[in-house]
Amino acid sequence: MGVLQKSQTLTSSENPEKVRMARYALLRKILLGFIVISVLNLAISHLFYTPKMWSLGKRNRELVLKYGILQDRIRTLQSRIDEVHHRDIYVYRALFSVDSLSLNGVYTPYPDSKYASLQGDEYSSLMDKTWRDMDALARSTYAASLSLDELQIMAKNKENMSFAIPAIWPIDRTQLQGFYAFGVRSKHPIFKTRRMHKGVDLSCNRGVPVYATGDAVVQMTDEGMRRRGYGRQVLLNHDFGYKTRYAHLNKIFVKKGDRVTRGQIIGEVGSTGGSTGPHLHYEVIYMGRNVNPVNYFNKNMTSDEYKQLMENMKYNTDLETE
Ligand SMILES: [Zn+2]
Repeated sequence: MGVLQKSQTLTSSENPEKVRMARYALLRKILLGFIVISVLNLAISHLFYTPKMWSLGKRNRELVLKYGILQDRIRTLQSRIDEVHHRDIYVYRALFSVDSLSLNGVYTPYPDSKYASLQGDEYSSLMDKTWRDMDALARSTYAASLSLDELQIMAKNKENMSFAIPAIWPIDRTQLQGFYAFGVRSKHPIFKTRRMHKGVDLSCNRGVPVYATGDAVVQMTDEGMRRRGYGRQVLLNHDFGYKTRYAHLNKIFVKKGDRVTRGQIIGEVGSTGGSTGPHLHYEVIYMGRNVNPVNYFNKNMTSDEYKQLMENMKYNTDLETE
Protein backbone atom coordinates (compact mmCIF):
# COMPACT_ATOMS: atom_id res chain seq x y z
CA MET A 1 0.00 0.00 0.00
CA GLY A 2 2.93 2.34 0.93
CA VAL A 3 4.89 1.55 -2.26
CA LEU A 4 1.91 2.05 -4.33
CA GLN A 5 1.22 5.37 -2.68
CA LYS A 6 4.83 6.47 -3.29
CA SER A 7 4.85 5.57 -6.89
CA GLN A 8 1.49 7.29 -7.31
CA THR A 9 2.85 10.42 -5.68
CA LEU A 10 5.93 10.35 -7.92
CA THR A 11 3.84 9.98 -11.04
CA SER A 12 1.47 12.73 -10.03
CA SER A 13 4.35 15.11 -9.22
CA GLU A 14 6.30 14.41 -12.48
CA ASN A 15 3.40 14.15 -14.95
CA PRO A 16 1.74 17.59 -14.51
CA GLU A 17 5.09 19.17 -15.24
CA LYS A 18 5.50 17.11 -18.41
CA VAL A 19 1.97 17.79 -19.49
CA ARG A 20 2.39 21.50 -18.92
CA MET A 21 5.62 21.49 -20.89
CA ALA A 22 4.01 19.54 -23.68
CA ARG A 23 1.07 21.90 -23.75
CA TYR A 24 3.35 24.90 -23.75
CA ALA A 25 5.38 23.48 -26.62
CA LEU A 26 2.23 22.84 -28.61
CA LEU A 27 0.91 26.32 -27.92
CA ARG A 28 4.22 27.79 -28.93
CA LYS A 29 4.20 25.84 -32.16
CA ILE A 30 0.66 26.96 -32.95
CA LEU A 31 1.50 30.56 -32.13
CA LEU A 32 4.64 30.38 -34.20
CA GLY A 33 2.67 28.87 -37.03
CA PHE A 34 0.21 31.73 -36.81
CA ILE A 35 2.96 34.29 -36.78
CA VAL A 36 4.69 32.67 -39.74
CA ILE A 37 1.46 32.45 -41.69
CA SER A 38 0.56 36.05 -40.86
CA VAL A 39 3.97 37.31 -41.86
CA LEU A 40 3.86 35.29 -45.06
CA ASN A 41 0.37 36.48 -45.76
CA LEU A 42 1.40 40.07 -45.20
CA ALA A 43 4.43 39.57 -47.40
CA ILE A 44 2.43 37.90 -50.15
CA SER A 45 -0.35 40.46 -50.03
CA HIS A 46 2.20 43.23 -50.06
CA LEU A 47 4.09 41.73 -52.96
CA PHE A 48 1.20 40.50 -55.09
CA TYR A 49 -2.26 41.82 -54.10
CA THR A 50 -1.61 45.45 -53.64
CA PRO A 51 -0.32 46.14 -57.16
CA LYS A 52 -3.34 44.25 -58.50
CA MET A 53 -5.67 46.35 -56.40
CA TRP A 54 -3.80 49.43 -57.44
CA SER A 55 -4.19 48.53 -61.10
CA LEU A 56 -7.90 47.79 -60.56
CA GLY A 57 -8.30 51.21 -59.04
CA LYS A 58 -6.51 52.76 -61.98
CA ARG A 59 -8.74 50.90 -64.41
CA ASN A 60 -11.82 52.02 -62.54
CA ARG A 61 -10.73 55.63 -62.83
CA GLU A 62 -10.12 55.15 -66.55
CA LEU A 63 -13.56 53.58 -66.98
CA VAL A 64 -15.22 56.49 -65.23
CA LEU A 65 -13.38 58.82 -67.61
CA LYS A 66 -14.44 56.75 -70.62
CA TYR A 67 -18.04 56.73 -69.44
CA GLY A 68 -17.85 60.52 -69.27
CA ILE A 69 -16.63 60.67 -72.87
CA LEU A 70 -19.36 58.22 -73.91
CA GLN A 71 -21.99 60.42 -72.28
CA ASP A 72 -20.68 63.43 -74.18
CA ARG A 73 -20.92 61.53 -77.46
CA ILE A 74 -24.45 60.34 -76.67
CA ARG A 75 -25.47 63.93 -75.95
CA THR A 76 -23.98 65.12 -79.26
CA LEU A 77 -25.75 62.37 -81.23
CA GLN A 78 -29.01 63.04 -79.42
CA SER A 79 -28.88 66.71 -80.35
CA ARG A 80 -28.25 65.79 -84.02
CA ILE A 81 -31.18 63.38 -83.99
CA ASP A 82 -33.29 66.12 -82.40
CA GLU A 83 -32.35 68.43 -85.29
CA VAL A 84 -33.37 65.75 -87.82
CA HIS A 85 -36.63 65.27 -85.92
CA HIS A 86 -37.26 69.02 -86.00
CA ARG A 87 -36.61 69.24 -89.76
CA ASP A 88 -38.80 66.19 -90.24
CA ILE A 89 -41.77 67.87 -88.56
CA TYR A 90 -41.35 71.48 -89.67
CA VAL A 91 -39.82 71.10 -93.13
CA TYR A 92 -40.32 67.72 -94.77
CA ARG A 93 -43.74 66.91 -93.41
CA ALA A 94 -44.93 70.48 -93.92
CA LEU A 95 -43.88 70.07 -97.56
CA PHE A 96 -46.21 67.11 -97.98
CA SER A 97 -48.87 68.60 -95.68
CA VAL A 98 -48.88 65.57 -93.43
CA ASP A 99 -48.93 65.22 -89.67
CA SER A 100 -45.90 64.03 -87.80
CA LEU A 101 -45.48 60.30 -87.53
CA SER A 102 -47.20 59.03 -84.42
CA LEU A 103 -45.46 56.07 -82.85
CA ASN A 104 -47.21 55.43 -79.59
CA GLY A 105 -44.80 55.25 -76.69
CA VAL A 106 -41.59 55.52 -78.66
CA TYR A 107 -40.39 58.42 -76.50
CA THR A 108 -41.51 56.85 -73.22
CA PRO A 109 -38.51 55.76 -71.12
CA TYR A 110 -38.14 52.08 -70.27
CA PRO A 111 -39.20 50.98 -66.75
CA ASP A 112 -36.66 51.23 -63.91
CA SER A 113 -36.54 47.43 -63.64
CA LYS A 114 -34.55 47.34 -66.89
CA TYR A 115 -31.69 49.11 -65.08
CA ALA A 116 -31.95 47.22 -61.77
CA SER A 117 -28.81 45.16 -62.43
CA LEU A 118 -26.75 48.36 -62.65
CA GLN A 119 -27.60 49.36 -59.08
CA GLY A 120 -25.67 48.63 -55.92
CA ASP A 121 -22.19 50.14 -56.23
CA GLU A 122 -20.53 53.52 -56.25
CA TYR A 123 -20.64 53.69 -60.07
CA SER A 124 -24.32 52.82 -60.44
CA SER A 125 -25.54 56.39 -60.97
CA LEU A 126 -22.99 56.87 -63.78
CA MET A 127 -23.84 53.56 -65.44
CA ASP A 128 -27.58 54.07 -64.99
CA LYS A 129 -27.59 57.51 -66.60
CA THR A 130 -25.40 56.40 -69.48
CA TRP A 131 -27.61 53.43 -70.28
CA ARG A 132 -30.79 55.45 -70.01
CA ASP A 133 -29.39 58.14 -72.34
CA MET A 134 -28.23 55.48 -74.79
CA ASP A 135 -31.68 53.84 -74.81
CA ALA A 136 -33.35 57.21 -75.38
CA LEU A 137 -30.99 57.80 -78.31
CA ALA A 138 -31.82 54.39 -79.76
CA ARG A 139 -35.54 55.11 -79.50
CA SER A 140 -35.36 58.49 -81.20
CA THR A 141 -33.06 57.12 -83.92
CA TYR A 142 -35.60 54.40 -84.60
CA ALA A 143 -38.45 56.93 -84.80
CA ALA A 144 -36.47 59.22 -87.11
CA SER A 145 -35.57 56.34 -89.39
CA LEU A 146 -39.20 55.18 -89.68
CA SER A 147 -40.34 58.71 -90.35
CA LEU A 148 -37.79 59.18 -93.13
CA ASP A 149 -38.85 55.88 -94.72
CA GLU A 150 -42.41 57.16 -94.76
CA LEU A 151 -41.29 60.47 -96.29
CA GLN A 152 -39.44 58.62 -99.02
CA ILE A 153 -42.66 56.81 -99.96
CA MET A 154 -44.55 60.12 -99.88
CA ALA A 155 -41.99 61.75 -102.17
CA LYS A 156 -42.38 58.89 -104.63
CA ASN A 157 -46.17 59.14 -104.42
CA LYS A 158 -46.05 62.88 -104.91
CA GLU A 159 -44.32 62.31 -108.22
CA ASN A 160 -46.99 59.80 -109.26
CA MET A 161 -49.68 62.10 -107.90
CA SER A 162 -48.64 64.96 -110.17
CA PHE A 163 -49.29 62.69 -113.16
CA ALA A 164 -52.48 61.22 -111.79
CA ILE A 165 -54.48 64.28 -110.75
CA PRO A 166 -56.79 65.49 -113.54
CA ALA A 167 -55.07 68.57 -114.93
CA ILE A 168 -55.86 69.10 -118.63
CA TRP A 169 -58.91 69.76 -120.78
CA PRO A 170 -60.65 66.53 -121.78
CA ILE A 171 -61.02 67.78 -125.39
CA ASP A 172 -59.03 70.05 -127.68
CA ARG A 173 -60.12 73.55 -126.63
CA THR A 174 -60.02 74.87 -130.20
CA GLN A 175 -62.96 72.52 -130.90
CA LEU A 176 -65.03 74.02 -128.09
CA GLN A 177 -68.35 75.60 -129.16
CA GLY A 178 -70.09 76.07 -125.83
CA PHE A 179 -69.38 75.64 -122.16
CA TYR A 180 -71.98 74.81 -119.55
CA ALA A 181 -71.00 75.21 -115.96
CA PHE A 182 -70.84 72.99 -112.92
CA GLY A 183 -73.29 73.61 -110.12
CA VAL A 184 -76.96 74.33 -109.62
CA ARG A 185 -78.94 74.59 -112.84
CA SER A 186 -81.22 77.57 -113.06
CA LYS A 187 -83.89 75.52 -114.74
CA HIS A 188 -84.02 71.94 -115.84
CA PRO A 189 -85.39 71.75 -119.42
CA ILE A 190 -87.76 68.90 -118.66
CA PHE A 191 -88.36 68.80 -114.91
CA LYS A 192 -88.42 72.61 -114.63
CA THR A 193 -86.73 72.34 -111.24
CA ARG A 194 -83.35 73.38 -109.91
CA ARG A 195 -80.92 70.50 -110.10
CA MET A 196 -77.30 69.98 -109.39
CA HIS A 197 -75.17 69.74 -112.51
CA LYS A 198 -72.43 67.36 -111.45
CA GLY A 199 -69.95 68.28 -114.16
CA VAL A 200 -69.30 70.65 -117.04
CA ASP A 201 -70.67 70.28 -120.57
CA LEU A 202 -68.26 70.96 -123.41
CA SER A 203 -70.16 71.21 -126.65
CA CYS A 204 -68.34 70.44 -129.88
CA ASN A 205 -68.76 68.34 -133.00
CA ARG A 206 -69.48 64.65 -132.83
CA GLY A 207 -66.30 62.57 -133.11
CA VAL A 208 -63.93 65.02 -131.37
CA PRO A 209 -61.36 62.92 -129.42
CA VAL A 210 -61.78 62.71 -125.64
CA TYR A 211 -58.60 62.64 -123.54
CA ALA A 212 -57.90 61.07 -120.16
CA THR A 213 -57.08 64.08 -117.98
CA GLY A 214 -54.60 62.22 -115.77
CA ASP A 215 -52.95 58.81 -115.37
CA ALA A 216 -55.58 56.34 -114.26
CA VAL A 217 -57.13 52.90 -114.42
CA VAL A 218 -60.46 52.46 -116.24
CA GLN A 219 -62.87 51.69 -113.42
CA MET A 220 -65.95 51.26 -115.56
CA THR A 221 -67.32 51.66 -119.09
CA ASP A 222 -71.01 51.62 -119.77
CA GLU A 223 -73.20 51.66 -122.85
CA GLY A 224 -75.98 53.34 -120.86
CA MET A 225 -79.60 53.79 -121.82
CA ARG A 226 -80.59 55.16 -125.17
CA ARG A 227 -82.38 58.32 -124.16
CA ARG A 228 -81.58 58.78 -120.50
CA GLY A 229 -78.70 59.41 -118.20
CA TYR A 230 -75.04 59.46 -119.08
CA GLY A 231 -75.34 57.31 -122.21
CA ARG A 232 -72.01 55.82 -123.22
CA GLN A 233 -69.55 56.68 -120.48
CA VAL A 234 -66.10 56.01 -119.06
CA LEU A 235 -65.19 56.33 -115.38
CA LEU A 236 -61.48 56.64 -114.59
CA ASN A 237 -59.90 56.05 -111.19
CA HIS A 238 -56.80 58.20 -110.73
CA ASP A 239 -56.07 57.14 -107.12
CA PHE A 240 -55.25 59.77 -104.48
CA GLY A 241 -59.04 60.17 -104.13
CA TYR A 242 -59.71 61.30 -107.70
CA LYS A 243 -62.08 59.93 -110.34
CA THR A 244 -63.25 61.45 -113.63
CA ARG A 245 -66.32 60.70 -115.71
CA TYR A 246 -66.71 61.21 -119.48
CA ALA A 247 -70.34 60.87 -120.64
CA HIS A 248 -72.59 60.95 -123.76
CA LEU A 249 -69.72 59.47 -125.78
CA ASN A 250 -70.10 58.35 -129.36
CA LYS A 251 -67.39 55.69 -129.09
CA ILE A 252 -65.30 54.17 -126.31
CA PHE A 253 -61.73 53.04 -127.01
CA VAL A 254 -60.87 51.56 -123.61
CA LYS A 255 -62.18 48.76 -121.43
CA LYS A 256 -62.44 48.17 -117.70
CA GLY A 257 -59.04 47.60 -116.08
CA ASP A 258 -57.02 49.38 -118.79
CA ARG A 259 -54.26 51.65 -117.58
CA VAL A 260 -54.38 55.03 -119.31
CA THR A 261 -52.02 57.99 -119.26
CA ARG A 262 -52.79 61.70 -119.36
CA GLY A 263 -53.68 62.84 -122.85
CA GLN A 264 -54.51 59.35 -124.10
CA ILE A 265 -57.62 59.22 -126.33
CA ILE A 266 -60.25 57.15 -124.53
CA GLY A 267 -63.29 57.88 -126.71
CA GLU A 268 -65.15 60.24 -129.03
CA VAL A 269 -67.65 62.99 -128.28
CA GLY A 270 -71.24 61.99 -129.04
CA SER A 271 -74.80 62.55 -127.95
CA THR A 272 -75.81 59.25 -126.36
CA GLY A 273 -78.14 58.98 -123.33
CA GLY A 274 -80.05 62.02 -122.11
CA SER A 275 -78.50 64.46 -124.57
CA THR A 276 -79.94 66.85 -127.14
CA GLY A 277 -76.72 67.55 -129.07
CA PRO A 278 -73.09 66.43 -129.26
CA HIS A 279 -71.15 67.41 -126.16
CA LEU A 280 -68.90 65.93 -123.49
CA HIS A 281 -70.23 65.85 -119.98
CA TYR A 282 -67.10 65.80 -117.80
CA GLU A 283 -67.00 65.26 -114.05
CA VAL A 284 -64.22 65.40 -111.49
CA ILE A 285 -64.98 63.46 -108.32
CA TYR A 286 -62.76 63.93 -105.28
CA MET A 287 -63.24 61.68 -102.25
CA GLY A 288 -66.68 60.74 -103.50
CA ARG A 289 -67.88 64.32 -104.01
CA ASN A 290 -68.32 66.08 -107.33
CA VAL A 291 -66.11 69.16 -107.57
CA ASN A 292 -65.90 71.90 -110.19
CA PRO A 293 -63.80 70.53 -113.09
CA VAL A 294 -62.80 74.07 -114.07
CA ASN A 295 -60.42 74.11 -111.12
CA TYR A 296 -58.61 71.19 -112.72
CA PHE A 297 -58.11 72.79 -116.13
CA ASN A 298 -55.50 75.24 -114.93
CA LYS A 299 -52.51 73.14 -115.88
CA ASN A 300 -52.46 74.65 -119.37
CA MET A 301 -54.56 77.76 -118.92
CA THR A 302 -53.42 81.33 -118.28
CA SER A 303 -55.24 83.48 -115.73
CA ASP A 304 -56.72 85.60 -118.57
CA GLU A 305 -58.10 82.52 -120.26
CA TYR A 306 -59.54 81.36 -116.96
CA LYS A 307 -61.21 84.74 -116.44
CA GLN A 308 -62.66 84.67 -119.94
CA LEU A 309 -63.96 81.17 -119.41
CA MET A 310 -65.67 82.20 -116.20
CA GLU A 311 -67.31 85.21 -117.92
CA ASN A 312 -68.56 83.12 -120.84
CA MET A 313 -70.03 80.38 -118.69
CA LYS A 314 -73.59 79.48 -119.33
CA TYR A 315 -75.88 78.17 -116.65
CA ASN A 316 -78.74 77.02 -118.82
CA THR A 317 -78.78 73.47 -120.07
CA ASP A 318 -79.77 73.06 -123.62
CA LEU A 319 -77.75 69.93 -123.98
CA GLU A 320 -78.92 67.50 -121.35
CA THR A 321 -82.20 66.00 -120.35
CA GLU A 322 -81.01 63.74 -117.54
ZN1 LIG B 1 -73.58 67.72 -118.15
